[in-house]
Amino acid sequence: ERSKLKRITSATARTLDTERVFIKGNIELPRDMQGVREVEADGVGLFRTEFLFMGRDELPDEDEQFEAYRSVLKALPGKPVTIRTLDIGADKALRGMEVHGDQNPALGLRAIRYCLAEPRMFLTQLRALLRASHFGQLQIMLPMLATLDEITQSLAMIERAKAELRAEKVKFADGVPIGGMIEIPAAALSVGLFTRKLDFLSIGTNDLIQYTLAIDRTDAAVSHLYDPWHPAVLMLIHRTIQAGNRAGVPVSVCGEMAGDVANTRLLLGMGLRDFSMHPTQILEVKQEILRAHTGELAVKVGKLMKLDEPDKVREAIQRL
Ligand code: PEP
Ligand code: MG
Repeated sequence: ERSKLKRITSATARTLDTERVFIKGNIELPRDMQGVREVEADGVGLFRTEFLFMGRDELPDEDEQFEAYRSVLKALPGKPVTIRTLDIGADKALRGMEVHGDQNPALGLRAIRYCLAEPRMFLTQLRALLRASHFGQLQIMLPMLATLDEITQSLAMIERAKAELRAEKVKFADGVPIGGMIEIPAAALSVGLFTRKLDFLSIGTNDLIQYTLAIDRTDAAVSHLYDPWHPAVLMLIHRTIQAGNRAGVPVSVCGEMAGDVANTRLLLGMGLRDFSMHPTQILEVKQEILRAHTGELAVKVGKLMKLDEPDKVREAIQRL
């Protein structure tokens, strides 16, 4: 079975009805690029940069970050590499970090909220990213967006970083796409705002499920209630993909749901054409995509989305 999967490594991911599907890798550190290259992924859909910052006392400065981002871009020439700005806080805390609102860190000062509260730190990362953009096909992705104000402030910070670099005569690529993660129900429910302001979207199902169902993703006591197939979760994912497709704004899924083959047909039927996952899951998902017919799946998923009883939803997904 392994060697059979190996044979599709170089195959372009196309469904039976010739829809092109992009399968990208998630990484946490530059060294993970080896795994991405081995399976000939279509790019990097999520580089969780906070791992460069965690488990150490001194935070990486602009040059250290620049080197890390450039090495990732250079490892995958000609393919899009999506680097997420810091998603610090809650399940990804810095050493010695004051736990803000420690009663409820997942609802506290994390991710984009933390970056906007620490503009120096954010600007340093944005400068390092833009400098690296000269060496490949960079896309910058903002985590945990909930409001228009966060988008506006983040875009202004990116403009500020560009203005600084221009004044210093430092090279960077023009028109680096700026995208945002849909991980909070409020974002999925106001997705039109996001498609108008951003160049691409990526659904972070790990957090979207946590926030939709009020299940702490790190709490074993409620892990049995963490259900990617809850009809409310499916509704938010479906809505986001459809809105993106209608607006011509690419949408991907980079949460764990994308890498589980049990969801491949479901997500294709919802209209998803861009998946990002741990590199070790890519070939298995690709095999499922090569066997799928999106036209047929779209009809079945359209019907399934009208169900609201969990057992019936589950059964319908398993029958896809
Ligand atoms: C997610 O929330 O689904 C996601 C991809 O981000 P992370 O798991 O890093 O929070
Ligand atoms: Mg997340």
